[in-house]
Amino acid sequence: MQPLVGIPCATIKSEGARGSASSAVPQSYLEALEVSGAAPLLIPITGRESTLRALYRQIDGLLLAGGVDLDPARYGEPPHPALGKVDPRRDWVELTLTGWALADNMPLLGICRGIQTLNVACGGSLWQDISAQAPACARHHSRPDEPYNRLAHTVRPEPHSRLARILGDPEVEVNSLHHQGIRDVGAGLHVTARAPDGLVEGLESDGDGWVVAVQWHPEWLLEEDPRMKKLFEAFVQASTHPDLAGAPPRRSVGTPKRK
Ligand code: MN
Repeated sequence: MQPLVGIPCATIKSEGARGSASSAVPQSYLEALEVSGAAPLLIPITGRESTLRALYRQIDGLLLAGGVDLDPARYGEPPHPALGKVDPRRDWVELTLTGWALADNMPLLGICRGIQTLNVACGGSLWQDISAQAPACARHHSRPDEPYNRLAHTVRPEPHSRLARILGDPEVEVNSLHHQGIRDVGAGLHVTARAPDGLVEGLESDGDGWVVAVQWHPEWLLEEDPRMKKLFEAFVQASTHPDLAGAPPRRSVGTPKRK
């Protein structure tokens, strides 16, 4: 049976005065999970813990996706003038789920905002804007006219990290679409990759759980770099616990309803 990977949604607000909001996940993450053998389960923006609990009980792994900035109040800082948009309800959904997943040793993959969410969930902090607060760093944000798969800088995975074993090379080229970054590393996490300027590009947990996070966007590099697909495949493999192999379906599919 395919593992179910939970992926918290972003809030998408419609333009104009009516102002309706939707919960949505970019298709690139969903396709990356599907081609790697998982079934994605979208977790909506909600303020109800009971909803989160019910969905969390179904999933085998948690994917934290990219998105808007985390509210700096979550790491005890006032907003910097260069802070971007925030979504405090999404912060709550993701930080709650991340806390549960870490406590349960559930496999977790963090991407872009996801590495930042993991870090903040563990008590770490962020550069609210790299250009303003860490000006010695190279440009890590992308311009609107640049494609998502533009290779922007190299990263060097730390030997012996899960990331190094998965990627299989001492250096890889990655895209870079973030204006925030990891500042202080949270408790129970360690750095597994850096950009040439020293900025953190990878984190993993110190414990036994499969917790891997990267600052770049592997889901936009699947076609040109097979190593990026390996990252998703390793996550899906970790989420495929032995019980799933011979398990009956959670619910029977296509069973006629009783009259
Ligand atoms: Mn970068």
